[in-house]
Amino acid sequence: MVKISERMKKISESPTLATSAKVNVMKAQGKDILNLTVGEPDFDTHASILNAAVEAIQSNKANHYTPTAGILPLRQAIVDYHQKYDGVSFAVNQVIVTEGAKNALFALFQVILNPGDEVIVPAPYWVSYTEQIKLAGGVNVLVETAPEKGFKLTVEDLEKHRNEKTVALLLNSPSNPTGMIYTPEELKAIGEWAVAHDILIIADEIYYRLTYNGNKAISIASLSEEIKNQTIIINGISKTYAMTGWRIGYAIGNAEIISKMIELSSHSTSNPAGPSQYGALAALTGPQDFVEDMRAAFEARLNFFYPLVASIPGFKVTKPQGAFYLFPNVKEAAEMCGFEEVKDFTLALIEEANVALVSGDGFGYPDYARISYTVREELLAEAVDRIKKFIETHK
Ligand code: PLP
Repeated sequence: MVKISERMKKISESPTLATSAKVNVMKAQGKDILNLTVGEPDFDTHASILNAAVEAIQSNKANHYTPTAGILPLRQAIVDYHQKYDGVSFAVNQVIVTEGAKNALFALFQVILNPGDEVIVPAPYWVSYTEQIKLAGGVNVLVETAPEKGFKLTVEDLEKHRNEKTVALLLNSPSNPTGMIYTPEELKAIGEWAVAHDILIIADEIYYRLTYNGNKAISIASLSEEIKNQTIIINGISKTYAMTGWRIGYAIGNAEIISKMIELSSHSTSNPAGPSQYGALAALTGPQDFVEDMRAAFEARLNFFYPLVASIPGFKVTKPQGAFYLFPNVKEAAEMCGFEEVKDFTLALIEEANVALVSGDGFGYPDYARISYTVREELLAEAVDRIKKFIETHK
């Protein structure tokens, strides 16, 4: 009989990827499924990036091992990027390029956590944080946030959960799944709290440039030198540049932590794929107008889609400020249709209405569902029609 480690028994597969896989199987069977589970832009990667990567392959400069931390021009471009967008200065040895932001987080938790160390994770949370923390032997301290408070934590909440085992705090603004953004004042208060208690801030800023309707995200590291020194920023090119498949992310911050992450990666991944690094370099240093075009398209979709979702019977939704998800409480709709649990409701929506949402349990909020607006407006409208019809026939 095969043996599986105790470590792996404690974690479960990413529910977003699992739902997406189910949808793909149904699509392959010829079903017309509207897939609103996907956490990636439906835009093409820009031609300037494609050309740079092809050139790097054809000239053979991208086809061998690179330094584990990434090619120097890319690390420099990441440093320049933070200077340009936030006015924050880092040195090149404070950057590690990784296979997506996901692997930056994975390496980070391995480097900072000892068994039993606690990480404060605001809920609802992105599905991989909790599993990665468990894999590193850490303990998730989940802190619930309320929709009336914009799904945001305060220092008061944090203080209630702090003890001598607290090592880090995870902040994801704009948030997946809620799309909410912390204001500079809120971030400053949290940053000062973290500095006062020597708690590492892990700032996942992957949706940082996807903000709408006048809302802006700022980097917590830009608020003071002390806060910057207490923060590791996680970011990447997946969402901003529609490059999810290229698998390039990074961590930037404390040089000692970064150098340990490089040591770890030297034994696990060696380096992120060479061609992808050249693509990422072109993304960060090349034309940026298409980023704004994509952002504006998401903003238009949000403004179109939000009122439609709010009009679905039994759906209660707060309007997000960034990212590309809505996160309604759908418990009432599920109950109206005779389902005790939202996950059975979302399963029935896939199978009978052929609309796929992700149930909120993987995000720590089982009464909710995550809906991505990463498809065109007419498909969003069609999805809402199908959900309304489903509810109408089941109630
Ligand atoms: N962080 C958050 C909040 C995310 O939503 C995602 C992707 O869904 C990631 C990190 C990882 O992104 P990637 O590994 O594609 O860079």
